[in-house]
Amino acid sequence: MCRLRYVMEHSTRASVHGAAENVQLAKAVLSRKQLLEFPEDEFSGQEQKVNIIDLSRNSLSCLPKSISLYTNMIELDISNNRISRIPDEIVALKSLRSLICKNNRLDTGSIPKDFGKCVSLEVVNFSGNTMLDFPMQLTEIGTLKSVYLGGNRIRQLPPEIQNLQRLEILYLGGNQLTSIPVEVSSLPRLMCLVLSDNRIEAVPSELAQLRSLKSLSLHNNRITTLPPQIVSLGDLCELSLRGNPLVVRFVRDLTWQPPSLLELAGRSIKNRGIPYTTEGLPHSLIHYLDSAQHCLNPKCSGVYFTSRVEHIKFVDFCGKYRLPLMQYLCSPSCTSSSGSSNYSSSSYTSSSDTESEDEGAVPSNKLKKVLLG
Ligand SMILES: [Zn+2]
Repeated sequence: MCRLRYVMEHSTRASVHGAAENVQLAKAVLSRKQLLEFPEDEFSGQEQKVNIIDLSRNSLSCLPKSISLYTNMIELDISNNRISRIPDEIVALKSLRSLICKNNRLDTGSIPKDFGKCVSLEVVNFSGNTMLDFPMQLTEIGTLKSVYLGGNRIRQLPPEIQNLQRLEILYLGGNQLTSIPVEVSSLPRLMCLVLSDNRIEAVPSELAQLRSLKSLSLHNNRITTLPPQIVSLGDLCELSLRGNPLVVRFVRDLTWQPPSLLELAGRSIKNRGIPYTTEGLPHSLIHYLDSAQHCLNPKCSGVYFTSRVEHIKFVDFCGKYRLPLMQYLCSPSCTSSSGSSNYSSSSYTSSSDTESEDEGAVPSNKLKKVLLG
């Protein structure tokens, strides 16, 4: 009992508004004590007086069932141990706001099925474990503000992530994600999104809806372009893109499928303004002709149907970056410096192996900025 005094210290809690609340919190610091198991005896009979326990950097392999007695626990740090399972009893900690459990041996099955009933949790840190899947229980905890799952082996994010309407920080660096679900864009308070060191190939244009986003980390992925809508993220202060095949390789690898005769005929009709009506053409062709898209090159007045060229356009962003954005053009010879509403047959005969003229126009130091982020 008296030993507890050595490990308990009082700290004054800062309230949400930054002012110190007049609440004394009992904190037990037991970090780096070479503990092999949770020191239940230290707290015997006083479990409810403890608000914060730091048991990081020990050799614990589990937490005892008696953890349920710590009903006033607000923060529990059990990082850097050997823990392979969180006990079901943790759900009894109705005051728990912060659970730090990084660098342990947790997989997705290590989390209690009812973990979603931790109704006060705001911060969860499961980084540096061996999870293959995003723990679905987290999507049931609407109070979560920060979720850290970096350095696991997570392959995809569930659509249910949009349930986390109060989420401000989502850290998923160093996983095996190949895509970003559009549901991520439904998190109105998200300020920091870390997706670096994954296998992501594309960024959904819906991410532009993240109006609170200040920091977006995408470095070391497989991203070839960004959607133009990303420019509307006005509050973004940090954007990292280095380590992505964003520019040169992508442009070189472009292949150009020659347009069909239907496409060429359709373009001729649209570009020359030849009138067409249901009296002269079947409905399917009318529908096809109406589906024409305008070439995005401002100097070109042409249209395209299904045969289009992916083109990289560099856009100034936040005054700091030149971003390579994706746009579609009607033919490989159509660039913003040379319109080509009149098509010569040679435009279509070979695949485009030349780099975009726009890219050549970008000074190399600016190009570097994009790549280094
Ligand atoms: Zn064009």
